[in-house]
Amino acid sequence: MSTVEIRNLRKSFGKLEVLKGIDFTVEAGQVVCVIGPSGSGKSTLLRCVNLLERPTSGRVVVDDTEITDPDVDIDAVRRRLGMVFQQFNLFPHLTVLRNVTIAQERVLRRGRAEAERIARENLERVGLGEKADAFPAQLSGGQQQRVAIARALAMNPSLMLFDEPTSALDPELVGDVLGVMRELAGDGMTMMVVTHEMNFAREVADRVVFMDQGVIVEDGPPEQVIVAPRHARTREFLSRVL
Ligand code: ADP
Ligand code: MG
Repeated sequence: MSTVEIRNLRKSFGKLEVLKGIDFTVEAGQVVCVIGPSGSGKSTLLRCVNLLERPTSGRVVVDDTEITDPDVDIDAVRRRLGMVFQQFNLFPHLTVLRNVTIAQERVLRRGRAEAERIARENLERVGLGEKADAFPAQLSGGQQQRVAIARALAMNPSLMLFDEPTSALDPELVGDVLGVMRELAGDGMTMMVVTHEMNFAREVADRVVFMDQGVIVEDGPPEQVIVAPRHARTREFLSRVL
């Protein structure tokens, strides 16, 4: 289980400052949901944690590794992070099983048999043990996203990052994916989840962070931020999404 410490994180694209000094900590085993309007910088924040973007300034520390150190081994950092995006990005020409083994073999250098055993365990875990030999196009969007979660879990991450994992799904498929995430949280996984699913955030998050225009407006337990927000901007946002 990992901790994440974010200190005065700033990110600009040219003249546009997208993150304007973000501070927060995720404790080991905690689930933190990040909510906020489109364009507020939520994806950029996650992308700075997994180094898909280089922060302009500030510090991000995962466990005892400062990942914003210019000399950090980016691949070693990424191996500890599982990432799940809105688009599942499965390889369409590979079976579900192969989608879950390929990075294990290429990045972690696991042998085929071990990779397949771990893949099957994780496919069971997300409720898709029966689909190992299917191709992505034969699965629903919700099933494809659960394969993407199994693929991330097979790498034994100590921290999972989710960026709107259910936003591309038909409404009736959202529940299964959230159910898998809920179980992961129950198993003690440290998670950062960008989501518009307020019920999920209310029930599963230890903390909810509300971002607007590149700053954290409100950060606290869901009973505060979602149920009894203190700031007008949070209330206004919630009135639009609830
Ligand atoms: P959110 O995920 O909250 O919708 P984003 O982090 O995706 O917000 O984007 C925040 C702002 O940063 C937006 O104005 C977006 O257009 C801008 N932005 C994001 N990525 C880039 C990029 N690579 N280059 C330029 N601008 C970007
Ligand atoms: Mg986004």
